[in-house]
Amino acid sequence: DRPPRFHRKFIHPSHGDSAPSSPIRVMQWNILAQALGEGVDSFVQCPLEALSWPQRKYLILEEILTYRPHILCLQEVDHYYDTFQPVLAGLGYSSNFCPKPWSPCLDVEGNNGPDGCALFFDQSRFELLDSMSIRLSAMLIPTNQVAVVTMLRCRITGRRMCVAVTHLKARSGWERVRSSQGSDLLRHVQNFIKKYTPLLICGDFNAIPTEDVYRCFALSPLGLDSAYKKLSRDGLTEPEYTTWKIRPTGECCSTLDYIWYTQNKLSVEAVLDMPTEEQIGPNRLPSYNYPSDHLSLVCDFSFKEED
Ligand code: NDP
Ligand code: CA
Repeated sequence: DRPPRFHRKFIHPSHGDSAPSSPIRVMQWNILAQALGEGVDSFVQCPLEALSWPQRKYLILEEILTYRPHILCLQEVDHYYDTFQPVLAGLGYSSNFCPKPWSPCLDVEGNNGPDGCALFFDQSRFELLDSMSIRLSAMLIPTNQVAVVTMLRCRITGRRMCVAVTHLKARSGWERVRSSQGSDLLRHVQNFIKKYTPLLICGDFNAIPTEDVYRCFALSPLGLDSAYKKLSRDGLTEPEYTTWKIRPTGECCSTLDYIWYTQNKLSVEAVLDMPTEEQIGPNRLPSYNYPSDHLSLVCDFSFKEED
């Protein structure tokens, strides 16, 4: 028996204006690579059964279909070609995938290929203008981390938007690498957009809000802000967690995932609330209820009036 799914509410940060007619829904989610979850992650409180792919894939798809984002940014995708690309194509999504050059999935017996970043968009809402895959560098040295950057055109407003997805280097001790990778991504994005285009950068940054790479994004000349701050009462504070897991080394509850957006060009109309500690449960993530150790972030955006 599977426990029931918990309902997450959308919070509408108020800014006086009336609600826009057709917001753009964006989802950011590290879905947990199947090979890593079963092979190397050692989530000691999660029964192996809850990690079996034939069941877990439906939980992941169920969550995506619950929110039906126009833009879907995923990390740790090691079932792109056999699952997500074909299933989501059948639902009207077009996509780009960039595998990691040396995915740790490849070290796991019976793996399904490398994991990587995938960017999906609803073809009825957006037209693809351009797309590129990037291998991120740190201090001029190519690393094992990647990003997908696309230029989309909204079919309703006709406006262009640049959307990127990334997954930065994990673990403590690698803060300077993450910071360098973040700067490298911003440099690529800046070159890609040429003129001032609204930006969305989604990712598992593997960095808490006090890290350099977070500051680097918050203070970049691109005018970015992190959408999930809108969930807090003061509108200035990140959520307490986007991932929560128990490994043999202990419990890890931290905010590592972000949706960055151009403050002057886009406004956040709604933010999907995080499950509470009680809903997550004593064994934390993943579980029979939650297929990944990371929670999905979902926001609705609208274009601001052009000046
Ligand atoms: P990262 O350090 O970025 O982490 C890779 C994955 O491991 C992430 O998805 C991360 O998840 C997860 N992870 C983070 N912390 C832990 C933990 N404590 N226990 C288990 N998993 C964790 O990896 P890299 O991309 O830098 O690659 C490192 C690995 O890749 C090496 O250990 C090696 O196996 C392989 N490799 C092989 C090479 C080769 O030449 N064959 C070359 C380079 C790498 P999350 O982001 O959710 O935290
Ligand atoms: Ca992981």
